[in-house]
Amino acid sequence: MAEILAVGEAMDRALALLEGGEVVAIPTETVYGLAGDATNGIGVARIFEAKGRPRFNPLIAHVADMAMAERIALFDPLSRKLAQAFWPGPLTLVLPQRPGNGIHPLVTAGLDTIALRMPRGFGGDLIGRLGRPLAAPSANSSGKISATTAQAVAADLGARIRLVVDGGATPVGLESTIVKAEGNTLRLLRPGGIAAEEIEAATGMALLRGGGAGVEAPGMLASHYAPGAAVRLNAETVGEGEALLAFGVRRAQGWQSATAFLNLSQTGDLREAASGLFAAMQELDRSGARTIAVEPIPFDGLGEAINDRLARAAAPRDKILPPT
Ligand code: AMP
Ligand code: MG
Repeated sequence: MAEILAVGEAMDRALALLEGGEVVAIPTETVYGLAGDATNGIGVARIFEAKGRPRFNPLIAHVADMAMAERIALFDPLSRKLAQAFWPGPLTLVLPQRPGNGIHPLVTAGLDTIALRMPRGFGGDLIGRLGRPLAAPSANSSGKISATTAQAVAADLGARIRLVVDGGATPVGLESTIVKAEGNTLRLLRPGGIAAEEIEAATGMALLRGGGAGVEAPGMLASHYAPGAAVRLNAETVGEGEALLAFGVRRAQGWQSATAFLNLSQTGDLREAASGLFAAMQELDRSGARTIAVEPIPFDGLGEAINDRLARAAAPRDKILPPT
């Protein structure tokens, strides 16, 4: 069962767990977050595992200050103005990533943009002490509503995580508002803790709505997800000119003739496989193979999200899988 520690006594324990690639539930002004080091693939994989999320959708990365934010993302003037007006606070900005920022690709589901937020209070202090951003979706199991008290987090996730930091009931109680600057316009991607009217008043601009829904639904992001190579799932054999994405110890027949070869996890560890998935797909794609054959991957635990991601990559390119 997770330990529950008050904010005043939780800092060192939370830091030690995060340093070790573990996840920690923390209070923020919006709802409780399930936080992991955004630069550590195993830590990020554990977030999906603890939540039981059936797919890898992009997570919000949380920063301590503007300097950290600028190291991660490229700010246009409009986004910078919003950050100055509303950070720290319940506003998330979607921005282009700065190349080489160290953010693990599982945080952004392989996208070249990143959702960034600067939380108030314990979360901000913790990130400052860690010196690295935290990826954190809401601290609830997939499909359940967001938790706004430490007790609700513990009741839901207590058996799967080590520490819940208790900061009392979260003041806002709603998720953050997500906004993206598009040229000289601003689009509301998700309504949340800061009213659209407040953002409109601060910028003197009307927020565009709709259209952005597609960005929130990873299934619609087919072009970002699809490698150039075709993808063939559950491969028991390797064909002519195919690269092989392997899993575990049992090899597909003819694996020696694969044009390129990577194993997601020699030991069959789904957490390791999840954390390496995006990089492996990119690397095999860059090898120039016509097709990437993928060995069978079990569906339990993180395997469901891994298989979901692979099915999307394997779907015909003119077909956009519906979001769930
Ligand atoms: P959660 O962390 O569960 O509150 O949800 C994060 C929200 O941010 C989801 O709706 C994501 O789809 C959205 N999001 C995260 N990263 C991006 C991004 N790079 N572009 C657009 N939306 C994003
Ligand atoms: Mg949530």
